[in-house]
Amino acid sequence: MRISLSLAGFVACAAGICGAAAVLADELPPGYWPPERTPEVLNLTKTVRLAPSLNELSAGERKAVQELLEAGKLLQRMYEDSLHPQALESYDTLVQLSTKMSQPPEMQSLLDLYRLFKGPIATTPDNRREAFLPVNPETPARNVYPPDLSRADLEAYLLANPDERESLLAERTVVRRATAENLKEDIEKLRKYPSLDHLHPGLRRKLQALQTEANAAALYAIPQSIRWAADLSRVYTRLNNAARAVESTDAEFARYLRNRARDLLSDDYESGDASWVTGSFKHLNAQIGSYETYDDALFGAKAFMSLSLLKRDEEASKRLREGVRNLQAIEDALPSPQHRRVRDDLPIGVYEVIADFGQARGRNSATTLPNDPLFVRRYGRTILLRANILRNPELFANTQTSWKALMSSPFDGDLSEDGELNRVLWHEIGHYLGVDRDRRGRPLDVALQSAADTYEELKSDLVALFAASLLQKSGVYAEADTVAVYASGINRMFQDSKPRSEQAYQTMQLMQFNWFHERGVFEVEPVTSSLVIRYNRFHEAAAAMLEAVLKIQHEGDRAAADAFIERWTAWRDDLHEPIAKTLRDSRTFQFALFKYGALGE
Ligand SMILES: [Zn+2]
Repeated sequence: MRISLSLAGFVACAAGICGAAAVLADELPPGYWPPERTPEVLNLTKTVRLAPSLNELSAGERKAVQELLEAGKLLQRMYEDSLHPQALESYDTLVQLSTKMSQPPEMQSLLDLYRLFKGPIATTPDNRREAFLPVNPETPARNVYPPDLSRADLEAYLLANPDERESLLAERTVVRRATAENLKEDIEKLRKYPSLDHLHPGLRRKLQALQTEANAAALYAIPQSIRWAADLSRVYTRLNNAARAVESTDAEFARYLRNRARDLLSDDYESGDASWVTGSFKHLNAQIGSYETYDDALFGAKAFMSLSLLKRDEEASKRLREGVRNLQAIEDALPSPQHRRVRDDLPIGVYEVIADFGQARGRNSATTLPNDPLFVRRYGRTILLRANILRNPELFANTQTSWKALMSSPFDGDLSEDGELNRVLWHEIGHYLGVDRDRRGRPLDVALQSAADTYEELKSDLVALFAASLLQKSGVYAEADTVAVYASGINRMFQDSKPRSEQAYQTMQLMQFNWFHERGVFEVEPVTSSLVIRYNRFHEAAAAMLEAVLKIQHEGDRAAADAFIERWTAWRDDLHEPIAKTLRDSRTFQFALFKYGALGE
């Protein structure tokens, strides 16, 4: 789980003009956004450069950094490929075009858009998805199911073929139609990469059996390692090179890298997750692999690739851990129908981002992984706070400007960086607390399916808000700290446009807005149209909503979960829209384009 401003969605586009196009003149071929359209987005985009010092790293660690950056570049392309079937082809064509055109700034704008959106589909300032390169419209299937597959088709297929359910919905597989061509291609890969054949016993036989009665109406799943066999083989080599480079100075990190390299070929992350979460590393850390399912707009089942290369801040990590004690008391105080045992010594670390790739790239401020409930029970989870994003002055100044524009005095001074950091920290801890299986023992993603992410993030947000008053009682927070966490919580509820239903974070933030507004925690002052906050109502509202959410997770009832989302996601033109407009008008930027010093940017 992570916190971020995510971009995903739905589209309209220039249809039918896809693939490579020859350039005869200086005119862009059809399907490309013309020069007058790119400023719509780029004028609202801020470039943020992350470049922590690497001076204190040893020569071996620096060598490992280089290897991991190369692995990251490969995973970046793999991620883009998994989001849209024509992403890589459209990018390569764009690069070719840009060498031929005599208008480099216009081409650079399109390359910047591709970098910003990790593919050929832009999110417009009013939150629509639109192709800016000549590609087919985005579909919910992305490129991890057949592009024309609908949710209803898949549900019907699973009902008729219950034995296939597990493999088709497995988070690290890609769903394909059983055409002769697809099967031939996949069987060919198993021949070409015998190690993958060995690591997936029975797969080749299964594919060969399908081949004898190839049928485009049938679906089958292949592991990510086979879908992206060439890329992941190269990543395997890079991770092993990195491991060798730090072997003598950071043996535990080296072990983790080797385990993870093998995991990427076996699609089973247990060894790497165990050595990652329980390992004690020196200066470097890295999140590597596919974990989060936010990008799967069809079923919320498929995990997408990421690599996050991090440098540890030992002092800040130590200070932070001292503030996180007695977690069991907070777990026991939750308004929850079930309770779990929690460790007090959570592996929490403060890091600086060296570079991010794939799904991890962006304004991602913290991560808690892994998600697999079995691994969490066996090994725990690691919490990675990303300080050079959380404390980035440009990002915070932008947030604060909007806050001041919305709030009346004295509330306009309540938002602070520390409040944001504490809320994010306790959001991540929130993933450890509360309900992790429904009353029938099913993992929540099985029980709640595509609604599971929304509930998991909602729960964690609410735990952070609920815990604040307990932390104040136990002396960890001063009153001002509690206020700052509440202000940060309220700020997160405001949306600059109506969320699309597949946006798990924005959806659950809108739900909180409506819940807290209905309970009078904040209100629009009729005369000034600015907002006032009633902090004395805050805790009760947070506790009541958390209780409702934990109950839905415990019941594991998909219909009830959907109904609750429906009830709390109303968008009113007289309430939400004026706030959205103030946000849009006051901020200095809407999009952040990240560049990394370590990549020479
Ligand atoms: Zn989260």
